[in-house]
Amino acid sequence: MSTPEGVRPDFVRRTSYCRLCASSCGVLLDIEDGRIARVLGDAAHPISRGYTCPKGRRAGDLAHGPDRLTTSMRRTADGAHVPVAFGAAVDDIAARLRAIVARYGPDAVALFMGTQQNFAALTPPMARAWFRGTGSHKLFSTMTIDQSAKWVVAERMGTYLGGRQRLADADVWLLAGTNPVVSGNGGDGDGAVVQNPSVTLREARARGLRLIVVDPRRSETAALADLHLAPKPGTDAVLFAGILNVILAEGRHDREFCARHAEDLPALAAAVIEVTPTLVQRICGVHPDQTRLAARMFAHGPRGMATTGTGLCMGPHSNLAEHLVAVLNVVCGRYLREGEPADDRAVLNRSGPARAEAVGPSRAYERGFRSRIGGIRAIRGELPSGILADEILEPGPDRVRALIVSGGNPAAALPDRDRTLRALRSLDLLVCVDPRMSDTAALAHYVIAPTTMYERADHTAIMEPFFPEPFAQYTPPVLTPPPGVVEDWRFFLDLATASGQPVKFAGRILDPAAPPSAEQLLAMTAERGRVRFDDLTEAPHGLRARRLESVVGPPGADGGGHRLTLMPGDVRAELRAALTERAVSGDFPWRLTVRRIREAINSTGTGVPGLVPGGANPAALHPDDLAALGIADGEAITVRSVSGLLRTTARADRTLARGTVSMTHCFGSIGQGRSFGVNVNVLIGTRDGTQAINAMPTMTAVPVAIERLTSQDRKVTP
Ligand code: SF4
Repeated sequence: MSTPEGVRPDFVRRTSYCRLCASSCGVLLDIEDGRIARVLGDAAHPISRGYTCPKGRRAGDLAHGPDRLTTSMRRTADGAHVPVAFGAAVDDIAARLRAIVARYGPDAVALFMGTQQNFAALTPPMARAWFRGTGSHKLFSTMTIDQSAKWVVAERMGTYLGGRQRLADADVWLLAGTNPVVSGNGGDGDGAVVQNPSVTLREARARGLRLIVVDPRRSETAALADLHLAPKPGTDAVLFAGILNVILAEGRHDREFCARHAEDLPALAAAVIEVTPTLVQRICGVHPDQTRLAARMFAHGPRGMATTGTGLCMGPHSNLAEHLVAVLNVVCGRYLREGEPADDRAVLNRSGPARAEAVGPSRAYERGFRSRIGGIRAIRGELPSGILADEILEPGPDRVRALIVSGGNPAAALPDRDRTLRALRSLDLLVCVDPRMSDTAALAHYVIAPTTMYERADHTAIMEPFFPEPFAQYTPPVLTPPPGVVEDWRFFLDLATASGQPVKFAGRILDPAAPPSAEQLLAMTAERGRVRFDDLTEAPHGLRARRLESVVGPPGADGGGHRLTLMPGDVRAELRAALTERAVSGDFPWRLTVRRIREAINSTGTGVPGLVPGGANPAALHPDDLAALGIADGEAITVRSVSGLLRTTARADRTLARGTVSMTHCFGSIGQGRSFGVNVNVLIGTRDGTQAINAMPTMTAVPVAIERLTSQDRKVTP
């Protein structure tokens, strides 16, 4: 066998793609003795072009590290975990679920779907197939703890069916509450600042794109921007109302698009008329000239979008802030028009025809399953994860007693950490599918050890909205998994079979006596696509699909009459509340914001030895703030909110605005012999500032107090 240049002869080099985040970077893996010895970016990959990030390059540690589970585990009466055969675990879990359902009904069973399961093509559909068969309504996911505001916006405003303008030919782009240079995520579905983010943004700017970044911190992305607005944390909604004020007052909006597709422009104008740049300065701390400049730069376009990550969705007034960003795009007409080339990125999926028409607001959440917790209703079939702990702890006939967790770590991700841990500990049955003994797994009755990404076959169907062009990739398994692990999807299929539930997958009922292989299932999920699955498997660096040359069509026969609603009454009430709220109190004068780091995605990677430099979660403040507090860089401090207190160390960081504290989210462990920092969710409650529709708590821009660690504090056990 010939050896590619740069490959040691004792290595086998394999091509695959990384599945730790939506970027799906192409990689080359040097395999030695069945283990990943080195991860390189795949320069022949047409989308990521050789880029990888630190966590992707440490995939060997994630697959082979000392904390990797190589067999499923069962918790014994004394709380220890011991190995258990997968089949025995599934049989016992199925029996316990049957008993719970027989006694309490199907709604006593819940499923929590974490971010990591989204990067495996087969797991979400199979997990949902099992869940449908239970008859339960208690479906939760990480989406409702960081981005459900985007769902609320679509349901209150409506949706335009022609598609959105794209970064590739944009003149201006506004990024709010996201730092794609670190996270890759430049906004849901814009598909262009996800892969190789720093290079992508630099190239776009080099061809003339003007970049506006809204972030209280001078983030790595903000450092690339033509204009950086740094509002006080939690005031984004007011800033966007002010930008809309300027655009409408100066007549810079797209009159033709608004006339055709928006029904209440005067109501919007009336709502934002008082939000002048001067008021924005008072509330947000942004100079009036900067608000005007942002409004004019964005409205000038003529092409480009405003997109958001999780920052706005996790902050105060999150539904309002996301709504106003969406309104900004509508007012400036940043959508594809009739006759323009349609967005044709669906390759393994099938997309509907693009039409130049709007679908009005559905407010379907008003008709969803109603939880007894605050009367909150399901949105898009999911209950908000912010009420999961209450669903478990609060007495009631349908109290959740059994929870299956797939690819997530609610113990680390959910707010009100003490209450979340108490809830998880109180369950009759907690099952966690996780390759590591995460905080959630450590509490579980059963931990199902799954394959890691390079041990399973996969394709990119779920990731298509994040690619900048029509692209798909398949990878076979490139590592042999440990004998004791199974693929995540197989757990759900076997659980359904053991429970006597038929499994409908990709439109057909699967035969439990002859379960399909992963390749067969992947082929099924791609059969409605526009490339042959066999062709995909023959393209190791992925497959660029040809453009369809379809265009945005005219409105349908009855479609021309629907309009987007820009300022419904409840949104206007939320704006009034945001304008009258006191930003900080004397007791908690600082605002804690949470951030992402390159070395980890949520809690995945935070506990891998050596992956996160220093392995801790310090609290960053501006050096002048530290000096004013009399706290030295590196000194032990407490961070206290109305909901809790944590101890950490201070770190000087000039990228922060004065008055702001910044820490990494989803960090830290409850112990289990692996102490590696603190979790900010001890500071985050589920009562104050919670959004009415989706029960989204305030997870960033949290009011806190900062104090030097006293000798008394040191005596308190964490
Ligand atoms: S950005 Fe990093 S984690 Fe995400 S796919 Fe690429 S290498 Fe993997």
